[in-house]
Amino acid sequence: MAILLEREKCLKKCTLCEEICPGDIIYMDAENYPLFRIQECWHCAACVEDCPTHALSVKLWFQS
Ligand code: SF4
Ligand code: SF4
Repeated sequence: MAILLEREKCLKKCTLCEEICPGDIIYMDAENYPLFRIQECWHCAACVEDCPTHALSVKLWFQS
């Protein structure tokens, strides 16, 4: 599983996804876009559900 970011939808400095991630998986890059320590992800989808602009989505590895 991966978390995909549509950068054009991201508000960047909102940082909500970073704040709500229960596993501290998300951190912001130098431009304030979220990055994911995906191998440590709990797959809870809280970041996907709570992003105010729907910039995040879950992708399963077998999806093309
Ligand atoms: S919650 Fe959404 S809009 Fe806010 S920083 Fe994360 S991906 Fe971007
Ligand atoms: S799915 Fe859950 S654990 Fe994984 S990055 Fe999103 S909020 Fe964090």
